[in-house]
Amino acid sequence: FRRGEPPPGPPDGVRQPSERPRPYEPRVQALLGRMTVDEKLGQLQQLAWSADTGPGRGQNAEAVRAARRGALGSVLNLYGARKTNALQRIAVEESRLGIPLIFGLDVIHGLWTTFPIPLAQAAGFDPAVAVRDAEVSAREARSNGVHWTFSPMMDVTHEPRWGRIAEGNGEDPYLTAALGAAKVRGYQGDDLADNDRVAACAKHLAAYGGAEGGRDYNSVDVSEARLRNLYLGPFAAAVEAEVATVMAAFNTVSGIPAHANRHLLTDILKEQWQFDGVVVSDYLAIRELTVHGFAADGADAARLAFNAGVDMEMASTLLARNGKRLLRNGRITMARLDDAVARILRLKFRLGLFRRPYVDEDAAITKPTKAARSAARETAARSMVLLRNHTSALPLSTSARSIAVVGPFADSPDLKGSWAGPWAVTPRPVTVADAVKAAVPKAKVTHVRGVDAQGKDTDDIVKAVAAARAAEVTVVVIGEGAKLSGEASVRGDISLPGKQEELIAAIAESGAPFVVVLVNGRPLTIGGWLESAPAVLEAWHPGLEGGNAIADVLFGKVNPGGKLPVSFPRAVGQIPVYYNHENTGRPYDPHNPYTSRYLDLPDGPQFAFGYGLSYTTFDIGEPRLSTRRIAADALRQGDTVDVAVTVRNTGRRTGDEVVQLYLRDPVASIVQPVRRLCGFRRVTLDAGRSTTVRFRLSAEDLGFWTHDRDGNFVVEKGEIRLYAGNSSLAEAERTLTIT
Ligand code: BGC
Repeated sequence: FRRGEPPPGPPDGVRQPSERPRPYEPRVQALLGRMTVDEKLGQLQQLAWSADTGPGRGQNAEAVRAARRGALGSVLNLYGARKTNALQRIAVEESRLGIPLIFGLDVIHGLWTTFPIPLAQAAGFDPAVAVRDAEVSAREARSNGVHWTFSPMMDVTHEPRWGRIAEGNGEDPYLTAALGAAKVRGYQGDDLADNDRVAACAKHLAAYGGAEGGRDYNSVDVSEARLRNLYLGPFAAAVEAEVATVMAAFNTVSGIPAHANRHLLTDILKEQWQFDGVVVSDYLAIRELTVHGFAADGADAARLAFNAGVDMEMASTLLARNGKRLLRNGRITMARLDDAVARILRLKFRLGLFRRPYVDEDAAITKPTKAARSAARETAARSMVLLRNHTSALPLSTSARSIAVVGPFADSPDLKGSWAGPWAVTPRPVTVADAVKAAVPKAKVTHVRGVDAQGKDTDDIVKAVAAARAAEVTVVVIGEGAKLSGEASVRGDISLPGKQEELIAAIAESGAPFVVVLVNGRPLTIGGWLESAPAVLEAWHPGLEGGNAIADVLFGKVNPGGKLPVSFPRAVGQIPVYYNHENTGRPYDPHNPYTSRYLDLPDGPQFAFGYGLSYTTFDIGEPRLSTRRIAADALRQGDTVDVAVTVRNTGRRTGDEVVQLYLRDPVASIVQPVRRLCGFRRVTLDAGRSTTVRFRLSAEDLGFWTHDRDGNFVVEKGEIRLYAGNSSLAEAERTLTIT
């Protein structure tokens, strides 16, 4: 499959770009024909609104003036029906051509209804839920005048130190692609002009998650094959799902900053994938090309980014300020300017903004609805991963007469997680302490923090132990604060901050029965306390209904079925540790010291990708294949290998299992991962019941991208091994082979 050809096998029902209807194209061209150069350059500009300064200060005043002059394309961070309408009115009614503005906002996991962080949602392994949640967010956003969200983040990463791991879908490109595309569909629906839809933004192109050392914004040096096989697949999936916009990444990619990377933004994205939407810069990132040491000055930065393929500039103003001079000197062309402006106008037409630039101020959603809350609760409960359940400590009995809830996150607003809408105005999440009280109203529930959220203060550990001793059972809620993950929130040590481990040790030592709930935005190194904890539930930053969702799982109203979307390392020194790695020539062998390993750590992660327990048990049968051999020509023509897997609930409760299909290409012209996910399906089964799930493998699943810079996707002759299970810990004896 060579450059210029669409990537192989878009999912059923996805139209190729050339088939998409373009009813507004003549109007885009007509409008373009009437625009002055200043007006065109103005469309490329997005200014940032500041809630703190109010109109008349910061970029706000500039935005008002530019809107009036018809020299502004978009505004970032302004929301609210009345406020957006007011500025929109200036653009539409006072500027010469009346071109409406697009209002963009980071609605990452909800506006008013804070859903679990994206990493948690990924643990749900459920694209249908991702669609539904994105729909809720889109409705809330659009009713508040927001047309565009900078979500989903589709950066695959092997770096738990990187704070932005919270915003993504973890370490696997297949899972990221599936969930990212689902979110795009949820945000955008069938028609962006509908008043409950927003344009999505697949970000950040590309390889941002590969930042060296996990340090935010850091450089990435990556081979062409790894770029495509690991990082780009999710973006291709977003483009297939017709994502309206794409954001470039802050980092360099093999020496070229992503914002000046023509290979990425134009050759691959716009030409090979035929993306006809808008490429937006990240915040000030065009200006930062000078800091990278790539552009000589601001004008040079504008030229490099624009010619590489960036269409809209966020926050810095270099294109608007230097554009005319660059045009005069022939450093940028009118054809490229028209192309960029046409992309932006096309988006405004797609959003229906020319017909309906304003929102109904009376219909604005200004708080979570009951339905949205229950969606958030359900999603949070579905995203939880039961990491350990020794002696079946969980679920807790609802007939307990006394329960202690201890730990700094038992009553913390940090359950919201990073990027939780406008933090100060989004509602406070339901706390674990309150939810436990509500779940077992007859029990005496005591609540002691033990240590503070930073974990520095140990004053209350004694009180916490006393509370634990006095209770039938204790729920210890520990983890990391919302500000410890997200952008610019990198940690060099990813264990529990401060004195929290001491809190667990003290409770464990007291002999009081307890379970641990983890609240965090990234994998943590769990350390020595794990063995002492009878049960550990990974709840992530579960959002607005987090407390209730945690109680639902603790008391067995919901049987946990989430799976880890990312490996949990044993120690920071082991990073990167991920399931879909290549083999060395000397893979780990406990009996041979000259194999790939650490002297001071056991092999493999603490918890593997795809892992997660349940209150019931499942048996996953042998995969059955529709064929064991498939011819190259048949594959090329779209033939598939169909795989059926039967899963049975062998325990005594209803529960969810995620059936996971992995494949391995054992001999290839580029060394392949030891296994990689190629299908998953979450099912709910009553005790004793079974069902068969079906997967369909096409050329797209069986092949890989080569090092060819022009793009070359190959399916090589030979065997492919398949494995079905409930985690990435493949058991060799259950492997099947297709040739
Ligand atoms: C982040 C983007 C975000 C933008 C706008 C940047 O710092 O990298 O992901 O969309 O800010 O808030």
